[in-house]
Amino acid sequence: MPTKAVLFDLDNTLIDFMKLKRMCIENAVDAMIDAGLELHKTEATNIILEIYFDSGIENQRIFQDFSNKVLGREDYPIMAAGINAYRRTKVSYMEPYPHAISTLTELVKRGIKTGIVTDAGKMQAWIRISALKIRHLLDIVVTFDDTGKQKPNPEPFKKALNELNLEANECLFVGDWIERDIAGANSMGMTTCFARYGSEKKVTESHANYEIDDIRDILSII
Ligand SMILES: [Mg+2]
Repeated sequence: MPTKAVLFDLDNTLIDFMKLKRMCIENAVDAMIDAGLELHKTEATNIILEIYFDSGIENQRIFQDFSNKVLGREDYPIMAAGINAYRRTKVSYMEPYPHAISTLTELVKRGIKTGIVTDAGKMQAWIRISALKIRHLLDIVVTFDDTGKQKPNPEPFKKALNELNLEANECLFVGDWIERDIAGANSMGMTTCFARYGSEKKVTESHANYEIDDIRDILSII
């Protein structure tokens, strides 16, 4: 079957989320030091990374947790400085991976349909898509809110196929999360591609049909 559509995961597949996170943390630490935090930048950065590692990368109370951990209390001027710098950085630096835009553009030129299947909520996903300026390059977007199910559940994949009016074996799925993206798309019968560049873990077996180090490599797969 020739590939008629390429479907992408969003975070760490199209968006360099980890790089963004690191920049947010660094700028937040600088701002907290200016607000009176008496710690070296590296030390403070490492403590925040540790808290994220223990509590999950989506921890929404990271600055409260950090303040409690290093100061034994919630220091509002310091937390506020960190939160402002973090948010400012997040809004200004949300960027696609190198070659993501040119790859999407080339797919569109070749007449191949494109889409996103993400576990992010609808608003979060659209804020990211808008920041990346890729809306015009996408035929479909399926978010968590569209099915209420997370990958590897078949529902988000089915929804994407329905909207594209295609069969699973006509689609290539690209993602960085083996248990969700690759396992889910594999069990649907899609061709799968592991975005090795988006994964911080050492992976020995991805179970994907292809593995790539640069998003542009998709163009030679299809
Ligand atoms: Mg991902």
